[in-house]
Amino acid sequence: MKNDLSRRRLLAAAPAAGFAARATAANSSDKPALMGGPKTRTSPFPSWPEFDDRERRGLLDVLESGKWNRGTGQFVRKFEEAYARLTGAREALATSNGTAALYISLNVLGVEPGDEVALPPYTFIATVNVVLRQHALPVFVDTDPETFQMDHRKLEAAITPDTRAIMPVHLGGNVCDLDAITAIAKRKGVPLIEDACQAHLAEWKGRKVGVYGDAGCFSFQASKNLNSGEGGAILFNDPDLRERAYAFHNSGSGLKNIGANFTYASSGSNLRLTEFQAAILLAQMSRLEKQTRTRAENAKYLTSLLNEVPGVRPARLYEGCTNNA
Ligand SMILES: *Cc1c(COP(=O)(O)O)cnc(C)c1O
Repeated sequence: MKNDLSRRRLLAAAPAAGFAARATAANSSDKPALMGGPKTRTSPFPSWPEFDDRERRGLLDVLESGKWNRGTGQFVRKFEEAYARLTGAREALATSNGTAALYISLNVLGVEPGDEVALPPYTFIATVNVVLRQHALPVFVDTDPETFQMDHRKLEAAITPDTRAIMPVHLGGNVCDLDAITAIAKRKGVPLIEDACQAHLAEWKGRKVGVYGDAGCFSFQASKNLNSGEGGAILFNDPDLRERAYAFHNSGSGLKNIGANFTYASSGSNLRLTEFQAAILLAQMSRLEKQTRTRAENAKYLTSLLNEVPGVRPARLYEGCTNNA
């Protein structure tokens, strides 16, 4: 707490300070809108998601081509190439959603029943669900209260001989300490899966998140910064791992050496993205970098105002975080 305020004095001071800040921002009147003062906001907030003829054209292209799945069309493949280029990853695999991206990653990195996966307790529940669905044991590494990310100082103590994956989450678009976590994963010889489902275009030391781990997982569900209603992707730096993930998400049928032409050399599931979703994602991606810059500017402004409120301290970024999505 700032200024050594007691809890009692903080509760008395904070609402007054917040009120004063808002009144000054609106105009010189000291009445809030609720009590008859002028409104701070006179035009509605922009609606979400944004879309225009780019999305309409893409959807119609897929519709009229009659090629609606990745087996026959080109849009999913095009999206994978574009997303890999945007993030600086070697390869990307589109998936049906973010949960599927995590689930595929656990499978191809060899997490089996009885294994342990180290992850943070403060996340969307899918991070935990995929571990339980695998009949593996989630081992929680508690949260750094200053950043809300997995506390890397507590990670090493959570690792046992049964740990088969480390799965940190870049929560709220902020970035966990990737220097510390990748170093521990490397030293312990444990695969690293980044849950980057909330962190499209977030950066650590100038590189996009999702490329630091063995697999980097993203969601394109309606509430995320890049949205196709439902959808997901995994980033890989190892083409062989991507080939195994491709086979797993395609009912065990790979492109090259794994079960091509209906021979099914591995087990798997159907976790494919559709061509319609890929067409929307390609259109949405044309706005993503600009939207991300606007968010960063607005967040900087909001953070500077919050910093003036007694007793409030905005979440901190680690020094290596060069963009909070
Ligand atoms: C959204 C989200 C997921 C799951 O993604 P879906 O596309 O909804 O399946 C997983 N982890 C985190 C941190 C998320 O925010």
